[in-house]
Amino acid sequence: MSDNPVLYWFRDDLRLADNPALAAAHATGRPLVLIYILDESSRESRPLGGASRWWLDKSLRNLSERIAARGGKLILRKGPAETVIAELVAKSGTVAVYWNRRYGPARKADERIKKALKRDGVEAHSFNGSLLVEPFALKTGSGGDFKVFTPFWKALQASITIPDPAPEPRTLAAGPQLASDDIAAWDLHPSKPDWSTEFGKMWAPGELGARKRLCEFLAGRIGGYTDGRNIPAQDSTSRLSPYLHFGEISPHQVWRVARHAEESGEASPREVLKFLSEIAWRDFSYYLLYHDPDMVRLSWRRQFEAVEWRKGTRAELEAWKRGKTGYPIVDAGMRQLWTTGWMHNRVRMIVASFFAKDLLVHWRKGEEWFWDTLVDADEANNANGWQWTAGTGADAAPYFRVFNPILQGEKFDPEGAYVREWVPELAKLPPKWIHHPWEAPAEVLTSAGVKLGDTYPQPIVDHDFARKRALETYKGSSQETAA
Ligand SMILES: Cc1cc2nc3c(=O)[nH]c(=O)nc-3n(C[C@H](O)[C@H](O)[C@H](O)COP(=O)(O)OP(=O)(O)OC[C@H]3O[C@@H](n4cnc5c(N)ncnc54)[C@H](O)[C@@H]3O)c2cc1C
Repeated sequence: MSDNPVLYWFRDDLRLADNPALAAAHATGRPLVLIYILDESSRESRPLGGASRWWLDKSLRNLSERIAARGGKLILRKGPAETVIAELVAKSGTVAVYWNRRYGPARKADERIKKALKRDGVEAHSFNGSLLVEPFALKTGSGGDFKVFTPFWKALQASITIPDPAPEPRTLAAGPQLASDDIAAWDLHPSKPDWSTEFGKMWAPGELGARKRLCEFLAGRIGGYTDGRNIPAQDSTSRLSPYLHFGEISPHQVWRVARHAEESGEASPREVLKFLSEIAWRDFSYYLLYHDPDMVRLSWRRQFEAVEWRKGTRAELEAWKRGKTGYPIVDAGMRQLWTTGWMHNRVRMIVASFFAKDLLVHWRKGEEWFWDTLVDADEANNANGWQWTAGTGADAAPYFRVFNPILQGEKFDPEGAYVREWVPELAKLPPKWIHHPWEAPAEVLTSAGVKLGDTYPQPIVDHDFARKRALETYKGSSQETAA
């Protein structure tokens, strides 16, 4: 019996270190069946977007190598998770299955699988491998759910105990021979077109890439994080989001290393606290999603579903996606996204506000484009980020706060360095005009080589008009249902 294996199911936790479910499976001393399932048919797990598929491809290859170096084998399978697990358990004589918990709609599938395993006499063990604190562990003083970030963050700090790191298995005794798919056959690169060609310049998917990035950030850039994190031309943030999303690093690891950097004097307490509060925003998104799994499609404040959103013309939607709206800061952000699979947080808010307010198209449509093109696309953070900006979410900016893309550009990109990088056709414009070239005198445009409507578009919508239209529409619709 002791030769019967246990099965470990990798999901959004593609790492060997500080992986509590893997450590527990390993601690049984039994051979390990290590699997990853690409399930694109499940009702509850949303198929990955193109940029995420690119990341997954690299990350799984990396993980496979790390596992092989320890004597194990990563088995890849495509298909409905419930069927694949049942088949592998039966074929291998597995006695127990281990995984780290999920908190979005997919947790329904996990519940079903757990039940089916128990029915067949197979143990199922689940752990927290991806959040600082699990959503069901935090309640307000009166026993309710948090709806506002600041009290959530206070409660989290008051209650958190960071566990010791789960030991990283040094050897992985492979279980019985089981067939694995060839990852090349999964064809995970985007096609028609493959826009991922530049991603490799910026990203090194995998556990070691994640740790390196965290250490570099804490050794340097964190010094200017609190102020610098709003300046898109500066590389002041950690860029850990895809690594955290795929679980190549855990938030507990981040917390421990950041606190250590603080204690050793490498990083200042102020900057570390600010950074950890952003990590806690990630927890907050999952908290909201756990308590309202429909927030990936529906406005968290349901009355905003009654807003008479526009469909948006094809030309408007294309202009937004391709970075050709005529608003330089919006265009710079959308081009950064397309080229690198990532966009700076400040600019995410600006482009999302432009979409949901200036174009007045349902935030869900914009969220879908982000889902396809972000390497960090995350059902909790993406829905929460969009809803925060659209004013439809929990603890969101009030709906009447409409970002002005010109003022945002002037405030957070005063010299226009970010715009110059991503919208090179405007590079020669002086800072005074770079965020509103349509108001620049003709001779300034000529000497900068800018021909509006030719080398760079005229604005696709007038912001003042669009702002009034959004306010009237939001106000009318939300009051109607609130009444
Ligand atoms: C419209 C919109 C959509 C977004 N979509 C996503 C998404 O799909 N995936 C995603 O991970 N983040 C998303 N965010 C949040 C945020 O923009 C990114 O997490 C951040 O820009 C990632 O860069 P970083 O790793 O350098 O962040 P840092 O500033 O270094 O922060 C460290 C980590 O904290 C977390 N974090 C930081 N800011 C936020 C935030 N506002 N909300 C939740 N977690 C945060 C991330 O995991 C991040 O990696 C979105 C924000 C907006 C406004």
